[in-house]
Amino acid sequence: MSIGVSPGAAAGPVARLGLPPTLPTTVPEARADDAVRAATALEETAVELERRAKLAGPEAAEVLTAAAMMARDPALAGNIRDLVGQGVPAAWAVDRAIGGYRDLLANAGPYMAERVADLDDIRDRAVARLLGVPMPGLPSPGHPYVLVARDLAPADTALLDPSVVLALVTELGGPTSHTAILAKSLGIPAVVACAAAGSFVDGQVVVVDGDSGAVTPDPTAAQLDEVTERQVARARRTALTGPGRTKDGHPVALLANIGGPTDLPADIEGVGLFRTEFLFLDRTEAPTVAEQRAVYREVLAPLAGRKVVVRTLDAGADKPVPYACPDPEDNPALGVRGLRTSWRRPELLRDQLEALALAANDTGAEPWVMAPMVATAAEAAGFAAVAREHGIGKVGVMIEVPAAALRADAVLAEVDFVSIGTNDLAQYTFAADRQLGALAELLDPWQPALLDLIAATARAGARAGKPVGVCGEAASDPRLAPVLVGLGIDSLSMAPVSVADVRAALAEHTLDQCREIAAAVLAAGTAEQAREAAARLG
Ligand code: PEP
Ligand code: MG
Repeated sequence: MSIGVSPGAAAGPVARLGLPPTLPTTVPEARADDAVRAATALEETAVELERRAKLAGPEAAEVLTAAAMMARDPALAGNIRDLVGQGVPAAWAVDRAIGGYRDLLANAGPYMAERVADLDDIRDRAVARLLGVPMPGLPSPGHPYVLVARDLAPADTALLDPSVVLALVTELGGPTSHTAILAKSLGIPAVVACAAAGSFVDGQVVVVDGDSGAVTPDPTAAQLDEVTERQVARARRTALTGPGRTKDGHPVALLANIGGPTDLPADIEGVGLFRTEFLFLDRTEAPTVAEQRAVYREVLAPLAGRKVVVRTLDAGADKPVPYACPDPEDNPALGVRGLRTSWRRPELLRDQLEALALAANDTGAEPWVMAPMVATAAEAAGFAAVAREHGIGKVGVMIEVPAAALRADAVLAEVDFVSIGTNDLAQYTFAADRQLGALAELLDPWQPALLDLIAATARAGARAGKPVGVCGEAASDPRLAPVLVGLGIDSLSMAPVSVADVRAALAEHTLDQCREIAAAVLAAGTAEQAREAAARLG
């Protein structure tokens, strides 16, 4: 079953993500010009990496520029010349010489080991040139295209240019994987877990429906017209602006999920989830207080006067941060992750809170700060104490472990607000890895057991008179938004690209209608029946 993970429809020709080239098993005779060919392939690779560096954000640019320097390393060139001199053909010489460095780096400590992926990339690109096979990584066919891949690394997705990539289809991937989240933040329609994608060929036209998850190869003229109509209707909905509210004016803040200052949309009510771990990933040690302060300032300054909810480091499982979770674990999703990492390394949390308090002071903003992966009221109390010690005014926790939802009254007694992370709450309620497309049905936010836990948390919020938001992917489903509001949720936080659809959906229902739909949905026995009940009343 393929799954739509980023809304919108698009049609266009397929271009597949290139796979790393493999060397043929029969080694040909070396050619007289092989030394020159190998040197040219490496130089062209360096130039290409520099070109990509210019297009990428500052952090990726640094990595790509360093990789270009590696490709031009004179010692590497010398080794390749020697191998060619011994009769090894160009592609094999490049593969072998880079392989030697690769092994050295892989064994030279964690910092150097991180560069291995860069070396592999150089090897793949230079070898592809020498063999005359398609380049690995993002294609550049010279026209807009639908990117099709078996799977996408977050690094590939981060470099996607939404003006060229019309839509994204992968064979693997789950509905709440970080690749899906990134696609959404770029505003590109995306479908994952699409088994048929394996058979799509370059140039074949497909229609991608990021809402239903359908991917239609070789569409008819009528199907293409329908895509255009949907794009026009979507543009019309996007034109609706202003704060989120129901038809009768009940306010529901529509907030953005962001990973850093560059994701900040101009016209937004606030931020409901700032995933700070993007600052901590791909490094060998935590950013300093000063570094963090500078980034937090960049997020807080333009949002002064608006609500900003910052989540403290959520390391572990799908967000690996080795220095925060140093012990190998058989089940990282059930391991020392999220707030639990602060038991072993309390200074990571303290530094982050200090940096946040300083940035708040610098900008006059009053960020709300919450902890991820809280399971008990005692953990919530512990976090609240440290956060308040650092001068944080509004302290909250995420509800993403069923234990915390079941004891929401006790958790809420310790904090000022909670925010429901439906991605992990679904994962832990259904014992279903959130990254697995094969378990998508269990991870469906319309599952009755998940909605029961959301409803219980919202009721606890109402009893305590404290805000309860939703910041998982469930918040971005325009058909589910009236249900969540009917259950008593005060704010919905989502990828900015989804705000227009959710705003339009809420504007079509009064609060009473939302409550009526929510009651019918809670009475349903399956996710499918829940959807049908909402569609009947909506
Ligand atoms: C969630 O689990 O729903 C959530 C919002 O956090 P993340 O997706 O970053 O784990
Ligand atoms: Mg989570």
